[in-house]
Amino acid sequence: MFEPDAEAMPAETLAALQQDRLRRLVDLLLAVPGGLQAARLRDAGVTSGAGLTLADLPRLPFTTKRDLWDGYPFGLLAVPREEVVAVHGSSGTGGRPTLVAYTRDDLRLWSRMCARALAAAGATPASIVHNAYGYGLFTGGLGIHQGAIELGATVVPVSGGMTARQVTLITDLKPDILTCTPSYALRLGEALTEAGHPSTSLRAGIFGAEPWTDALRARIQDLLGLRALDIYGLSEIIGPGVAAECVEAADGLHVNEDHFLVEAVDPLTGTPVPDGTPGELVFTTLTKQALPLLRYRTGDIAALRRAPCPCGRTLVKMSKITGRKDDMLVIRGVNVYPSEVERVLLAEPALAPDYLLVLDERDPAQLRLLACVERVTNGAAGLPSVTDIESSLQSRLRETLGLSVAVALLPPGSIPRTEVGKAVRVRRWSGGEPPLAGLA
Ligand SMILES: [Zn+2]
Repeated sequence: MFEPDAEAMPAETLAALQQDRLRRLVDLLLAVPGGLQAARLRDAGVTSGAGLTLADLPRLPFTTKRDLWDGYPFGLLAVPREEVVAVHGSSGTGGRPTLVAYTRDDLRLWSRMCARALAAAGATPASIVHNAYGYGLFTGGLGIHQGAIELGATVVPVSGGMTARQVTLITDLKPDILTCTPSYALRLGEALTEAGHPSTSLRAGIFGAEPWTDALRARIQDLLGLRALDIYGLSEIIGPGVAAECVEAADGLHVNEDHFLVEAVDPLTGTPVPDGTPGELVFTTLTKQALPLLRYRTGDIAALRRAPCPCGRTLVKMSKITGRKDDMLVIRGVNVYPSEVERVLLAEPALAPDYLLVLDERDPAQLRLLACVERVTNGAAGLPSVTDIESSLQSRLRETLGLSVAVALLPPGSIPRTEVGKAVRVRRWSGGEPPLAGLA
């Protein structure tokens, strides 16, 4: 553990620390001149942090991505602009990016959280970390970079893309830790195999920035011969390092709840759901300075679980993200998360792990979901026929989702591979040419 005193804190000590920090956060927010969160707190009848307990949390106001957009670029700052030493963010779908600010102490906190994630994956100061997350406004690259330095490891800041060069660096430098998106891990695994250099040095991979399933975990582990671990974060909260899996259990992500208080709430009503029930994750940043957020609604769906872990950490675990409130497709009245389709597709060994869902909305009265997949290229002999695969997948998808999904089995190489950033898993087809060659 990078910070055992914090990561293995007894439950009562942790709760007392969280309560103390929550009170200080509320006082800090109330003191921001003209602050949006201050106004909401006063509307909720909260005029001081004193006396608040963790049980009061559900009656405190939420913040949302909309608040960040409305306050763009510096509207929600809780410190003078001069104290901001860095900004990060994500390109928004609505045109405006989501921009977040960091003080020097915020960057230090972020580095420590990423160092915790790396240590949880088994990284040590002797490790070489091949960091293929994109560097830039996106938090993935620089977050892991700073965390690796904080841990004292050697970081290779290769960023995303230029896959041939990555293969060379992995072969020559023999890193033990790989960090990138899970879709790029697949791309790298394929490229290493094609180049005849199956990696032997990599021991663990820390894959995040997009939701992925245990079926994809199995595929990546097979392809790269490493332990594939999940990491979670979002720039609004701090970036990667909000939560990470430990190599000992690898069955959920320990949330760094001494700094990021987590709740799961009903995505529609906003009321807390019990542990073990999937809900929308809501985070309160307990110690951040530049952009402290009270009860930020992430839109990410996961379940929380409190149980002893063989690694010794006492931090609550969140399940892998099972869906995004925003990615949910509504097809003929049925709610579908792309990850549910992924679980079915990746369980079929005759299929390559890349896929694309096409929402065919050319005729709005006849919405159709098409799962576009490829056959594996190796070991073609003895595989079931195209028709057999298509029909068995269609019946399994109907059973799992309660919805008919058309399956299109395409030649290898048809699905676009991810070189940089996050994989595109869903495309809309509202008219004109199909979004993929070979699709009728
Ligand atoms: Zn653990």
